[in-house]
Amino acid sequence: MIETTLSCPCGSGLTFTECCQLVHSNQGKATTAEALMRARYSAFAVGNIDFLYNTFHPTTRRFQHKDAIQQWAQENKWMQLNIIKATFSTVEFEAHYLDSTLQVQIHHEKSTFKRQGNLWYYVDGR
Ligand SMILES: [Zn+2]
Repeated sequence: MIETTLSCPCGSGLTFTECCQLVHSNQGKATTAEALMRARYSAFAVGNIDFLYNTFHPTTRRFQHKDAIQQWAQENKWMQLNIIKATFSTVEFEAHYLDSTLQVQIHHEKSTFKRQGNLWYYVDGR
C-alpha cells in the first residue's frame, strides 16, 4: 500500500489521503467527472482494482474482468497524469507510464462519464 504522506498520484499537489483516497473510500466524494477520472488514475497507481471495477458504469462493467485490470495496473509503472480538457461529462487526458519493458508510454484518451444518482461512473474512452 502506498504511504499516506505521499503526494497523490493524480498530481493535484495534495497528499493521497487528502485527495483520491477520499474518493477510493467513498465514490460519492467524486462530485465531478474529472474527480472520478483522477481517482481512477490513482487507483491504477496504488493497485485499487475493486475501485476501478466498481466505477465502471453498470452498462460496461460486465465486459470488464478484474484480473485483466489488475494485470494492466501492475505491469505498468504509473508516472504522471495530465488533464488536457475536462467538461461536465468528458475528460481528455494523458497518462504517462513505464511499460513492463520500462519504455515510456503515453496513453491519450477522451473518456466519457455518466452520473447515476449522486455517483459518477466511467463509461468508455477512445
Ligand atoms: Zn488525487
